[in-house]
Amino acid sequence: MKLSTEGQSVERSGGVLRCPHCGGGLLRHLEVEVFTRAEGAAAVIKTTTASDGQARSTLIANRASGNPSPCGGGLRIKLTCDDCDAAPFFLTLGRHQGGIELGWAD
Ligand SMILES: [Zn+2]
Repeated sequence: MKLSTEGQSVERSGGVLRCPHCGGGLLRHLEVEVFTRAEGAAAVIKTTTASDGQARSTLIANRASGNPSPCGGGLRIKLTCDDCDAAPFFLTLGRHQGGIELGWAD
């Protein structure tokens, strides 16, 4: 299966996701955040699954939630890189203009 995107927002080489800061391939995930939201709703259910196995869900205002989607739900994977000293960052999937947009966020 091949990961296909438009543009250069996510670099992929040899099946390994590369760090957006240094290009290294030693990424590890810390936690996953899922944003469940009806289209255009002011509130979102944010579910976070941490690396310690704990999960929690909260209903919060969408604009302050970190949801990468301007119009619906989304997903963020918090990553750290063993190849550089970058602060933890996110790989994001957000609904945008009917499609799913991949990106990076701090
Ligand atoms: Zn890095």
